[in-house]
Amino acid sequence: MREPVNRPASTPIYQSAGWVFRDLDEVDAVYEERLHGVVYGGSGTPDHWALEERLAALHQAPAALVTGAGMAAFTALVLSQGRAGMHIVAAHDGYGNTRRLFDELARFDVRLTVVDLARWEDVRTALDQRPAMLVVETISNPRLRVADLAALSELARARDCSLVVDNSLASPFHCRPLVHGASVVIESLTKFIGGHHDLVLGCLLAAEEVIAPARRLAGRAGLTGPAFESWLTLRSLEDFPVRLARSSASALTIAEWLTRQRAVRAVHYPGLEDDASHAVARRVLERGFGSVLSFEVTAERAACNAMLRAFQHIELVLSFGAARTTISHPATSSHRALTLEERAALGIHDGFFRLSVGVEEVELLLADLERGLHALEQD
Ligand SMILES: *Cc1c(COP(=O)(O)O)cnc(C)c1O
Repeated sequence: MREPVNRPASTPIYQSAGWVFRDLDEVDAVYEERLHGVVYGGSGTPDHWALEERLAALHQAPAALVTGAGMAAFTALVLSQGRAGMHIVAAHDGYGNTRRLFDELARFDVRLTVVDLARWEDVRTALDQRPAMLVVETISNPRLRVADLAALSELARARDCSLVVDNSLASPFHCRPLVHGASVVIESLTKFIGGHHDLVLGCLLAAEEVIAPARRLAGRAGLTGPAFESWLTLRSLEDFPVRLARSSASALTIAEWLTRQRAVRAVHYPGLEDDASHAVARRVLERGFGSVLSFEVTAERAACNAMLRAFQHIELVLSFGAARTTISHPATSSHRALTLEERAALGIHDGFFRLSVGVEEVELLLADLERGLHALEQD
């Protein structure tokens, strides 16, 4: 092929598993990292590297590793840092799959202690047992409680415990946990950064001593993810801050509007001044309070279905973070595996909905919500 003299403005997609070497000396040099090259597509390509550089800069992180999913980032971290018999402390209202991943690790004698971050004494008691990791989410799902990252990192650091923060709901637009003292950050790029419900990808951000072994493990375990998803994510990063500035501003408008609706019993959003997390959120979050809110209605399932069917724009989608506004129902999806009592302990019931606000005109969204709530009251 004749190479052009100039380069493309968009990072090319290196859709190649195999890579060509000139001779054995070049193979040695690439393996030994004296020359920068690709050994094999499964161990990372220039698309992964370009994305890692951008994400590390956004998070002010020393190093980053892109993985095939947010959960693959957890897997790479636990398999590269963990030991049989290690102790993990995790927030009680964490993402369901994270919890189930830790449950799987019980077969390797990994011990899990679950704590409510609102009970400071319980957190301290759990950390006094010297766990290897404390795993929290910047904004928890679906109750949207904000973790006091600086205080938690101080407690953890004093006990040689690594503070691992899942930042998927906040994204680096609203929070950079390493700046607050966290040791490791996990992002599901599937959500706000990908931003279009069309890719699954994740990343790990930390010091090079954490990322290098995780990178080795990810290559060996097949956790790297495809080049095309990295390329799509690079593309999404270009307009990510504009999307989030708009959707988080709309989320605040919608949260305030929902508090005034007769059919709505409660609204959970850290941007609301009377929200339990508001004071912490003002310290932990930047540029607004996120694009996800939850609300509760006192209605039977049939009335909830009437609301969902009445929406003309908002669709029921069991994920979040897209440019298009979607609604989800934790009781039948993310928290489906829990018993009624376990759900009740987390404040989740059949009338609990989570709204992921997108970039549409906010008036269009308010009109659609009004339509839905009207149908709910009529049913
Ligand atoms: C979606 C999600 C994950 C998992 O990410 P995947 O990319 O779906 O693997 C982890 N944590 C939180 C908080 C999430 O919302």
